[in-house]
Amino acid sequence: MPPDGPPDSAEVRCAICDRPVADARLTDAQSGRAFHPGCVVGRLPEDAFIRMLGVLALIAVPAVLVWAG
Ligand SMILES: [Zn+2]
Repeated sequence: MPPDGPPDSAEVRCAICDRPVADARLTDAQSGRAFHPGCVVGRLPEDAFIRMLGVLALIAVPAVLVWAG
């Protein structure tokens, strides 16, 4: 069974949903990964939330250690 179209050696897959990314893709210059704009928008709040939890942990852990000691 032949492939549907010409082989696309430059095919880029979204690092979030793993589907091929067409034009207007977003790329991460550091890792070279590509993303759908919609996937990035859906992903950002989650990352911001995790980052916030990390910041809270950095603040809360020393406070708990002081409080317990
Ligand atoms: Zn995607």
